[in-house]
Amino acid sequence: MAQILDGKSLKEKILKELKQKVDCFEVKPTLVVILVGDNPASKIYVNNKKKTAEQLGINSQVINYPSEITEAELLTKINELNNDPSVTAILVQLPLPEHISKENVMNAIAPQKDVDGFTPYNFGKLFSGEEPTVYPCTPKGILLLLDEYNIELKGKHVVIVGRSNIVGRPLSQMMLNKNATVTVCHSYTENLEQITKTADILVSAVGKNIIEGKMLKTGCVVVDVGIFKDENGKTRGDVDFESAFQIASYISPVPGGVGPMTITSLMLNTVELFEHQV
Ligand code: NAP
Repeated sequence: MAQILDGKSLKEKILKELKQKVDCFEVKPTLVVILVGDNPASKIYVNNKKKTAEQLGINSQVINYPSEITEAELLTKINELNNDPSVTAILVQLPLPEHISKENVMNAIAPQKDVDGFTPYNFGKLFSGEEPTVYPCTPKGILLLLDEYNIELKGKHVVIVGRSNIVGRPLSQMMLNKNATVTVCHSYTENLEQITKTADILVSAVGKNIIEGKMLKTGCVVVDVGIFKDENGKTRGDVDFESAFQIASYISPVPGGVGPMTITSLMLNTVELFEHQV
């Protein structure tokens, strides 16, 4: 039976320490979140970010534009925030409406204010094995969670299912930089089960119920990033928890695993950027 990778408790522990740090700052960090449109999930994420920042004493501002805003208007605003010394961190909530290029928007954010670590500059640094200004939040949260439980990466076979820019791709590089042997799977991967069975550490970031206990190696570590509602409206992860729990040595639950670590990393990144800038 597996031990739980408890992201909720680790979040509380890290944020308590972070609050003490922020309390000591004379001038506080300022996080600006830009939300375009009225996607209900995005609104919830943005409100959580604002609320958590405020609990820590971090200034936070949400700028909510209607989905009709033009790309040029959005880029002008980002440029203004880049040049405003009172703003220390900028986050553009994804997804953006189709008429706005995500690439152009990410490219516009000053790397030293890029709290998500998604700008081409920071991505380029990460992919060339250098230190970016900050690491992307979800992968960073996963590494913090594994580290808390003293789970070694060096020499281990890490299988990541999902290759998105927010999870799988940056995580693969971060794991590689920690000397893990990394396999990245995606929707064209053949014989997924044969690959997952060789994983010492399995990370699933798909958004579908895709991993069952029989696909795992006995004693492996399972990190479930996926989060979605099933047909009964219940929040679920990618992994069939009951069967995986019997096989794995550690498993992250959904909710309460990776989710709390993502917001924790965002707060850590906000403070790190502030410290770089002052
Ligand atoms: P995404 O951009 O939709 O990427 C999903 C990935 O899964 C893609 O790489 C896709 O492959 C792959 N995939 C789809 N079907 C597959 C299959 N049958 N076999 C193997 N791979 C398959 O998703 P995302 O933004 O990374 O998010 C993934 C999940 O994590 C979602 O549930 C999201 O809500 C959750 N999430 C949670 C957090 C958190 O903090 N807890 C943070 C971020 C995301 P292709 O590339 O070939 O299409």
